[in-house]
Amino acid sequence: MNKSGLKKYSSEIVKRLAAEYPDVKCHLEFNSPFELLISTVLAAQCTDIRVNMVMTPLYRTKYRSPSDIIKDGIDNYRENIKSINFFNNKAKSVLSICDALVNEFGGKVPDKMDELTSLSGVGRKSASVLLGNCFGKNDVIIVDTHLKRVSARLGLIENDDPEKIENELKEIIPADAQFYFSMRIGEHGRQICKAKKPDCEKCFLNDICPSAFKI
Ligand code: SF4
Repeated sequence: MNKSGLKKYSSEIVKRLAAEYPDVKCHLEFNSPFELLISTVLAAQCTDIRVNMVMTPLYRTKYRSPSDIIKDGIDNYRENIKSINFFNNKAKSVLSICDALVNEFGGKVPDKMDELTSLSGVGRKSASVLLGNCFGKNDVIIVDTHLKRVSARLGLIENDDPEKIENELKEIIPADAQFYFSMRIGEHGRQICKAKKPDCEKCFLNDICPSAFKI
């Protein structure tokens, strides 16, 4: 498909995803950019449910700001998050992030991609989650495992490298639709176009998807 055909095709997908998942939300619970930043780092190779279970009570009672985590110290922090996968390394990253937030960003979470990705354990994916969910930026593509899989099955991307995928999708999805496209295609991957067995029978894209009924 040429670029203009791909743009037309992707705009149909954007439209159908919006109709199906109008109120899509982040699965991590948060009440501030600080909470989402920390939970996003903790959610790597762990479930959102587990992170919510551990962190939501801690944000309400103990860790309201980066200084609270620094004051509590790494040993206590590690102990409090020990049911989260890779808690040891993640505790080090979180302490380093809190340190940077206090010393370099006036205690606040920055709202720029390069500043966010300068923080320990924060890659472009996590930064995009923050920019879209907390700072109202629509021109971000969140390249997670669901977006990668579903976009590939739909024939929207050819690459496997996250940054190349981001660029490919940015060329065909309008800037003001990129964040919600990411959130909705992720939801579609969770609910219908699952990794092992996509439910093409139920899928509202099965009349246009090149992979329909082939996996
Ligand atoms: S038709 Fe099947 S493979 Fe294509 S997006 Fe839907 S569930 Fe995924």
